[in-house]
Amino acid sequence: MNALPRFPLAALPTPVMPLPRLSAALGFRLLVKRDDLTGLAFGGNKTRKLELLLADALAQGADMVLTTGAAQSNHCRQTAAAAARAGLACRLVLMKPPKPSGNLLLDGLLGAEVRWTTRERRDADLAHAAEEAAADGRKPYLIPYGGSNALGAAAYAYALEELLAQEVVPDTIVFATSSGGTQAGLVAGARLLGFRGRILGVSVDEPAGVLKPRVAALASQTTALLGEPADFRPEDILVEDAYAAPGYGVLTGAEETAILRFARAEGLLIDPVYTGRAAAGLLDLAAQGAFRKGETVLFWHTGGTPGLFAEGYATRLAEAAGLI
Ligand SMILES: *Cc1c(COP(=O)(O)O)cnc(C)c1O
Repeated sequence: MNALPRFPLAALPTPVMPLPRLSAALGFRLLVKRDDLTGLAFGGNKTRKLELLLADALAQGADMVLTTGAAQSNHCRQTAAAAARAGLACRLVLMKPPKPSGNLLLDGLLGAEVRWTTRERRDADLAHAAEEAAADGRKPYLIPYGGSNALGAAAYAYALEELLAQEVVPDTIVFATSSGGTQAGLVAGARLLGFRGRILGVSVDEPAGVLKPRVAALASQTTALLGEPADFRPEDILVEDAYAAPGYGVLTGAEETAILRFARAEGLLIDPVYTGRAAAGLLDLAAQGAFRKGETVLFWHTGGTPGLFAEGYATRLAEAAGLI
């Protein structure tokens, strides 16, 4: 794999830790890769992508980055922090204005300018925000939704290389997938590095019929960018979409249970939107016998924990925890 230029933002390698009490209860060896500890403004998977994206923005002479996401977007929070670290302005085009708590509070603390949009108008409003910046004499750099173009995804090919260098070779990697960049990078890296384990994305929102072709196309582009072009087909991509039906950001009883179980069994905090849904999926798949006895399953923690403190989620979780 080519070494693409990086703007250093992350504390790497992130630790891999055993989850002994959950492992004993589930009957297989469960590990966690702590990308919630990437170290940039509460961490998360977007920090790795932003190392490559910010290097590109700086190489292009940008003085502002723009991106888009949900009001509680972890991607936007990490982009705001990355921009601050690089001395760039940051303009965020966010969907749905809730109360400024959780990630949205952090966007403000980190100095990002926030504008509001809707799902339908998102891409047009992002383009417009960039045009306005250019008309004001700025040099804007557009980061796509989730940081998920081939450049952002390449970070997860390197992340798989990092995991293998930690001498961890799981039979299955389970993680939350949404815009698909994380999964595209992992499958691209797996092909280039000869990793043969399963790479199972638990969809938090999109149907598998949408995600598989998207991830396959992005993985193909990512291997090309890494200098070793390979072809991926939708059937090469493992997506479990059985837990996506409630919709993006909807906290269900299954996620509440997973959050409490991981917290109380292992002292590990997962988030209400992504890792909570993926962990709930993992627990349900385990109950269905999807993992062999004695197999090694790695749960890739992609971050998102500031969402625990977002208004709405915090109240629901306090009830689930028996505090109120
Ligand atoms: C963005 C995000 C994901 C999904 O990653 P994609 O690359 O968009 O598929 C998973 N977990 C968390 C916490 C995220 O913020």
